[in-house]
Amino acid sequence: MSEPQYIYQHGYNEKNSIAIIWCIDDIKEKAKEMEVSVKLTDDQCMYILQEIHRRHDASLGVSWDTLEYAIESYVNELRCNKCSKVGSFESDGKPALYGQEFDENIYCNNCIPEAWEKMLESEGK
Ligand SMILES: [Zn+2]
Repeated sequence: MSEPQYIYQHGYNEKNSIAIIWCIDDIKEKAKEMEVSVKLTDDQCMYILQEIHRRHDASLGVSWDTLEYAIESYVNELRCNKCSKVGSFESDGKPALYGQEFDENIYCNNCIPEAWEKMLESEGK
């Protein structure tokens, strides 16, 4: 018997199982079709795939609709522009995010740029 060509880990291979693969290019293709305003990086696409995996329901499976839903939730979530940490402006238990009128970016407390401090000082706040 020939050795299986595809090994899926944990003893699973093409002789005893199947594997359905979704990849970052699938996320990019779907995002393009949805005309989302942000161009997703490979890391962001991988994050979305991991979220799909984490929330996976075997009775529903993963489909193009699943990808669409996951992309939509991702782009609608507020996150730090530097480290991509998900957060909120509200005190709702999520990590705090900060925004300023003079900067279109939002940051978590670890990523607030030094320039902000100078801007706030010069504004006398
Ligand atoms: Zn951050």
